[in-house]
Amino acid sequence: MPELPEVEVVKRGLEKIIRTQPRIVRFEFKRKNLRDPMPIKKLKALEGDKILSVKRRAKYLLFQTSSGGFLSHLGMTGSWRLAPLGEEQKHDHIYITLDGGARLAYNDPRRFGIFDVLTEHRLAGLGPEPLQEEFSAAYLKKQFAGKAQPVKCAVMDQRIVVGVGNIYASEALHLSGIRPLRQAKRLSSEDLHKLVASIRQVLEQAIAKGGSSISDFRGFEGVAGDYQAEHNVYGRGGQPCAICNTPIRVKALAGRSTFWCPSCQS
Ligand SMILES: [Zn+2]
Repeated sequence: MPELPEVEVVKRGLEKIIRTQPRIVRFEFKRKNLRDPMPIKKLKALEGDKILSVKRRAKYLLFQTSSGGFLSHLGMTGSWRLAPLGEEQKHDHIYITLDGGARLAYNDPRRFGIFDVLTEHRLAGLGPEPLQEEFSAAYLKKQFAGKAQPVKCAVMDQRIVVGVGNIYASEALHLSGIRPLRQAKRLSSEDLHKLVASIRQVLEQAIAKGGSSISDFRGFEGVAGDYQAEHNVYGRGGQPCAICNTPIRVKALAGRSTFWCPSCQS
């Protein structure tokens, strides 16, 4: 499933195209629904609009246009690519033709994605962005107060902070030397400072590497990211820790595989 870095990589790819050809000539829909029915009439009404900005909020891609806007969420298997006129692939569901002739294709085999007009209700209740200043040790201290749940579950809670999914939660906890099962409320100020810095570091490194190519994720240019080559714990159960050689442990936590080094993390 694409996580924050993968969505950021897609956003930057789309932005590059849209910056030079911002006007929407045509939306083309090959079906009526993804996860939800798409408001096709409302979306078609945006034809002729100029796309003023492409932003990312949590894992949503937000397109502000001259008369409103639309949003895209990649769900489990969604991707955007440039598709020359006439090029169609299995599971292409949406095409957007721009005024310079570029055609953007949305492909999504499992169809858990979202494509909708820009509405606030999709974004309600989301916590701060992890790469922005609002997300700090002081902020986490307040959020974690009285929380007995494991710290890994707490950092994956979108109401506390957005965009820290399973891979990057495991990696950030390893980098900060914190065991994923520790109760959130038991983290010291020092732990929280390390955790915030580590979350930023793993996300920024992953963005720089084009994301992790799990679940067939492809960046906008069809290129697989290669951050997974740098995973220290995720997907490495039983293998030696890169730092201390202790075998990495793996355990399901809230239904998600959780990886940690029993020696580096306490
Ligand atoms: Zn270790």
